[in-house]
Amino acid sequence: MFQAVAYVSRGLFRSYAGLSVRMNSTGIDQKGVLANRVAVVTGATDGIGFAIARRLARDGAHVVVSSRKQHNVDRAVAALQGEGLSVTGTVCHVGKAEDRERLVATVLEHYGGLDFLVCNAAVNPLVRSTVHASEEVWDKILDVNVKSPALLLSQLLPHMENRGMGAVILVSSIAAYIPHVELGPYNVSKTALLGLTRTLSLELAPKGIRVNCLVPGIIKTNFSKVLHMNEVFWNNFKEKYHLQRLGQPEDCAGLVSFLCSPDASYINGENIVVAGFSPQL
Ligand code: NAP
Repeated sequence: MFQAVAYVSRGLFRSYAGLSVRMNSTGIDQKGVLANRVAVVTGATDGIGFAIARRLARDGAHVVVSSRKQHNVDRAVAALQGEGLSVTGTVCHVGKAEDRERLVATVLEHYGGLDFLVCNAAVNPLVRSTVHASEEVWDKILDVNVKSPALLLSQLLPHMENRGMGAVILVSSIAAYIPHVELGPYNVSKTALLGLTRTLSLELAPKGIRVNCLVPGIIKTNFSKVLHMNEVFWNNFKEKYHLQRLGQPEDCAGLVSFLCSPDASYINGENIVVAGFSPQL
């Protein structure tokens, strides 16, 4: 108890003022609650990641988007810049060390550092049961979904911690609480992220960096087609949890912006469900 009070007073929850950020190549001076902060979003060219990138940029941040495929990065950057937003992008398969290094280099080249990291990219191969999953599948899922957020954060941390404050958002899944039988190791990877959030939130508190976790329910994207386009599954799920509609990527984006904002400066280590219902006690 006394230890907890001590670390809170040493580092966490500092005020938000006093940072200068180099302007991006477009020279746009952003306005909004996240004005002139810098955000990195992985898996940001489609679905939830794209909605998060757009929302953070609309709220004033300079945003670096990334994903595995150059043409997706180009398309996302063009779409967001076309809305007058301050966005740049690079290819980054989060499971590849050299790609993570390129992402760090892009951030440094454009902005000299960052304030927010959103680890959204994940893989979700249909593997039937956990006991049937091969070692290769286990490695891929754990590498991309669990190890890569921690490794990317380690690479970016030196460029976050000298800026006075920061926020990291991991992206888990409702499957962490309500495992889907077809998705064995994916469920496990998403449960691990809840633990990673809590551990990192303690580790980084003294540096003034908060770590929270977005836990989406079923959200309309390509990733979840296999669930929401399966009429039997979706109707049962809807009925069981009294859902009135399917979630949209934008339902998740507002929470991420809030968690980055000064209004969330006393929120740390939380796993927050955006699912239209609560799976928790
Ligand atoms: P999505 O619409 O399929 O978009 C996935 C994005 O990630 C794309 O931009 C894709 O672009 C990129 N990507 C895929 N693998 C990547 C990798 N290894 N490295 C970097 N980027 C990668 O997916 P989504 O539904 O938005 O899912 C986003 C996150 O939400 C995931 O963490 C997922 O587990 C979580 N989630 C989703 C739902 C849901 O119902 N949709 C529910 C719970 C949790 P490229 O193809 O160019 O790489």
